[in-house]
Amino acid sequence: MSAAATLRIDLTALSDNYRLLADKAAGAVCAAAVKADGYGLGLEWIAPTLWESGCRVFFVAHAAEGAGLRAILPDATIHVLHGLASGGPATLLRHGLTPVLNSLDEIDRWRRDGRGRPAAIHVDTGMNRLGLDDADADRLIQQPQRAAFPISLLMSHLACADTPAHPMNRLQCERFAAYGEGLRQAAGRPDLPLSLANSAGVLLGADYHFNMVRPGIALYGGNPIIGSENPMRPVITLDGNILQCRDLPPGAIVGYGAAFRAERPSRIATVDVGYADGFLRACGDGRLCADVAGHRAPIVGRISMDMLALDVTGLPEAVTQPGRPVTLLGGPVSLDDVSAVTGLSAYELLTLLGRRYNRVCIGEVQGTGSKVLISK
Ligand SMILES: *Cc1c(COP(=O)(O)O)cnc(C)c1O
Repeated sequence: MSAAATLRIDLTALSDNYRLLADKAAGAVCAAAVKADGYGLGLEWIAPTLWESGCRVFFVAHAAEGAGLRAILPDATIHVLHGLASGGPATLLRHGLTPVLNSLDEIDRWRRDGRGRPAAIHVDTGMNRLGLDDADADRLIQQPQRAAFPISLLMSHLACADTPAHPMNRLQCERFAAYGEGLRQAAGRPDLPLSLANSAGVLLGADYHFNMVRPGIALYGGNPIIGSENPMRPVITLDGNILQCRDLPPGAIVGYGAAFRAERPSRIATVDVGYADGFLRACGDGRLCADVAGHRAPIVGRISMDMLALDVTGLPEAVTQPGRPVTLLGGPVSLDDVSAVTGLSAYELLTLLGRRYNRVCIGEVQGTGSKVLISK
């Protein structure tokens, strides 16, 4: 019995997912989005596993994340999606990070202070979130010398790739292809690398791959295309432990707000996982079931900060003893199902998990022959 709930991370599955995506995008470089600490799973084991699987190019959001990744992977290419906003040129240069420049102002600043080091450029092709807007993008084609540094990559980002039939996909793809050709000609760089696809974009087909793809969620087992069969291997399993069990008469309540009231003689197990561990209130009130030794047990009542309650009425006593594990996520409780029931995306579920779990990495990274079993 472990002291705390356990988050198991299957590095073999992560590696297999990387290889599957790299195969699907054959011909393009397969990079990895590892922002937010590798989607909440922990860069310290996610990053070396991806590296051993053949990944050489990484994307983080903030300069500080890039510095952390640099300490793990001295030879990787690390892009910082927030450009110069989360750390200026001096910080980026110190850690050998490549900014993704999001405006003409940032391009001018990198030309002055970037010491001739490469930078990527992000054009907005309709998502209207980040990147050069239409006016800035046109001006860059008219004045390509403003980017008088090696442009390592021209990228854009898809707004609706998880919905393959959405007209935004084709629209953004065509805009990006046209702009990429324009900038290649203007800058005299026919080989300037282009990148558009996130995980779902990889599955949209070869038109979307260009020279580099940047999957994130699919690496970690999330389903890139909503409502379709998930081609990725699950990466995480989350097991809580039963702290106590009690028998309740009809009419008794459970937890804050008396949000659950027993309608029959009930047996309730209290488990050591709560909203501080990423199990938000949306996971309670009977919406989800945990797996208790192969039996389904609904999560009942309001979830507390450090605990939740399972209705284990009728389950064998042996599997509901204090210290027994219950699976809350992964295995028979798929990320996709939890996502569908709670309205929380797989991205939210993973990045919310928090650092309180006993994290155990299992698996073997193919090609190195090295077995990994890290516990923290
Ligand atoms: C997060 C992110 C990705 C990866 O997206 P997924 O949907 O997780 O595959 C790729 N590109 C950019 C710009 C991102 O912000």
